Amino acid sequence: MHAALITGKETVELREFADPVPADRGVVVDIAFCGICGTDVHAYQSGKDYNPAICGHEWSGTVSAVGREVKRIGEGDRVVVSIASACGSCAACRQGQASHCQQAFLSAVGRDALAPVHGGFAPRIAVAEQRVIAMNPGLSFEQAAQVEPATVAFHAVRTSHLRLGDTAVVQGGGPIGLATMQWVRAAGAGTVVLIEPNAQRRDLGLALGAHHATEPGEAADALVKELTHGLGADIVYECVGRGFAVQSAVDLARRGGAMCLVGLPEEDAPITVGTWLVKEIRTTSSLAYVREEFEMAMGMMADGRVRVEPLHTSTVGLDGLGAALADLASGVSTQAKVLVDPNL
Ligand SMILES: [Zn+2]
Ligand SMILES: [Zn+2]
Repeated sequence: MHAALITGKETVELREFADPVPADRGVVVDIAFCGICGTDVHAYQSGKDYNPAICGHEWSGTVSAVGREVKRIGEGDRVVVSIASACGSCAACRQGQASHCQQAFLSAVGRDALAPVHGGFAPRIAVAEQRVIAMNPGLSFEQAAQVEPATVAFHAVRTSHLRLGDTAVVQGGGPIGLATMQWVRAAGAGTVVLIEPNAQRRDLGLALGAHHATEPGEAADALVKELTHGLGADIVYECVGRGFAVQSAVDLARRGGAMCLVGLPEEDAPITVGTWLVKEIRTTSSLAYVREEFEMAMGMMADGRVRVEPLHTSTVGLDGLGAALADLASGVSTQAKVLVDPNL
C-alpha cells in the first residue's frame, strides 16, 4: 500500500507501507477522503519535521477491520477521525481537568503508542479505536472529511466570549475562517463581517451567511467603525494564521471587546501591548477540540446550519497531493478545501 508523506521542504513522497492491521484496541479505516489542512501546507513550506500522523489528519472512511478488544465500533461503520476521550488517569484528568487530558492530546498529535506511521493520505490507516467516531448518518463522506476542521472552528467559537447580538469580525476566509464565520452566525452574532483579500473567498463568505465582506486594511477599519458607532467590533476571530494578523484583530475590537486566536502562525507575532491593555481585550485561544464537540458539530452540519460542501473546491488523488500543496502554498490559490481521494 502507498501513502503520501510530506518528507521535507516542498517535498511529497509516495512510500510503500505494509497493509495496516488493527491493534487489539485499534481499528483499520478505509479512507474515503482526507482534507488538506493549513498545517499540511505549513509542513510543506517549512520542511520542519512533523510527526508522520499529523499530515493528513482530516479524514472520513469506513471501518474495514477491528482489533480483538474493540466493542464500540464494527466493520462497515462509517467514521470520522476524532480526538480520544479523556483517559481518566493522566495528571490533568486526576485533577479533574478532563478537557485538557494529556493522553488525548498526545494521541491527537501522533505521539502516543498507537500513533499511525503515516497520515490519512493513504487508502487505509490503523488508529486507536478511540480516535474514530461514528459519522452522523446525515453527512456524506465529502462533508465528513471536513468535520475535523469544522470542529476546530466550533471549539473556537464555543470557548470564545461571543454574546447574542454581537458585532463579530472574522479575519481570514480560508476553510477555518469560513467555518468559524458560520458558527459565529449560528451562535447568535447580530452582525458578521468577513475580512479577506481574495474576492472569490469574500463572495463565498457572503453566500454562506456573512452580512458583510471586505478587504483588509482601511476598507475593513472603515466598515467596522461604520457598523459600530465608531467603537469597534465586540469580538474578532483571528483565522489568518499569520503573525501580522494578531495585532490587527485587536485594532478592530472595541474597548472592552474580545478576540479569539484560531489561526496558528508558524512565526512570532509583533503586538502592541498598550492597545490590549487600554482596550482591556479579553482573549481566548483555542487549539483543536474536545470529543463531545464532534457530535455537536456534526449535528449542526447535518441539519444545514453550517455548510462545508461549498468550501470543497477540488479533489485530487495521492499523486496530485504535491501539486495541490504547491498551489495552496503559493498565496494566490483560488482553492479553499482540497480533498484527497486515495482511490483515484
Ligand atoms: Zn487541520
Ligand atoms: Zn487524561
